[in-house]
Amino acid sequence: MNCFKWRDSLLELFFPSKSICPICWQKDLEGKYQGVCPSCLKKIMEITREVETCPRCGYFTAGEACPNCRYWAESVLTVGSVVPYDGVFKELIHDFKYNEKKEFAFPLGYLMAYRVKEMGIAEKIHAIMPVPLYIGREIERGYNQSLLLAKVIAKELQKPLWRDALERKHFHHTQTILGRKERVENLAGAFEYARNEDVNGNSILLVDDIITTGATLLSCTNTLQKAGAQQVYGITWAAGYSLKLLKEMQENNFFHREGR
Ligand SMILES: [Zn+2]
Ligand SMILES: [Zn+2]
Repeated sequence: MNCFKWRDSLLELFFPSKSICPICWQKDLEGKYQGVCPSCLKKIMEITREVETCPRCGYFTAGEACPNCRYWAESVLTVGSVVPYDGVFKELIHDFKYNEKKEFAFPLGYLMAYRVKEMGIAEKIHAIMPVPLYIGREIERGYNQSLLLAKVIAKELQKPLWRDALERKHFHHTQTILGRKERVENLAGAFEYARNEDVNGNSILLVDDIITTGATLLSCTNTLQKAGAQQVYGITWAAGYSLKLLKEMQENNFFHREGR
């Protein structure tokens, strides 16, 4: 074994996840493919491009009426997502948030930036803001996953990152057991504008990992609108989906990953 092979074996031993595609677990031999293998990158870009989504909240509709954004009322918010929140896409975000897989910020953020370009809004955005975590949650986890994603997206789109322009005021423990309408009401007024950046008259892109009811992004949007923001967009890795779509997608190998 020559010295290069020795070096590679040692790297493999200490940093195995860096050379393995986190989606299909194939070895990414070239190691230059935006954090996922070329085949998975292509398939995800196809989903982003071809699967029908709600133009307002990004829900994967498969051509059906969107059940998700009917409580959004007058908000200026428009959201896009990369993939449906299921299968391997759900596992990826779970590992990223709770299992310290911070390196996933790159492939996820890269694909989110791609979605923003597909939406045709990249040129309209003045600045990018991550959705802040409740401070106790950030200390407990050690990082804010939305900030890590926002950093990658800001770099890809070459836009300024306003990381501290929004602050989270309080945390609602009961959020997960509430219905759609109640969640929107429960989070109203949860965010504060820090006034360290000038949002007045500008269009902002908010970054979060997933969108469920949209209550979090709506609350941020409301705060930014009051501060004078002209338009607010949201980009998330994953969103809800219709059951019809799930049936179609189950034939796709993204939803059934073999064990490592
Ligand atoms: Zn792959
Ligand atoms: Zn919708």
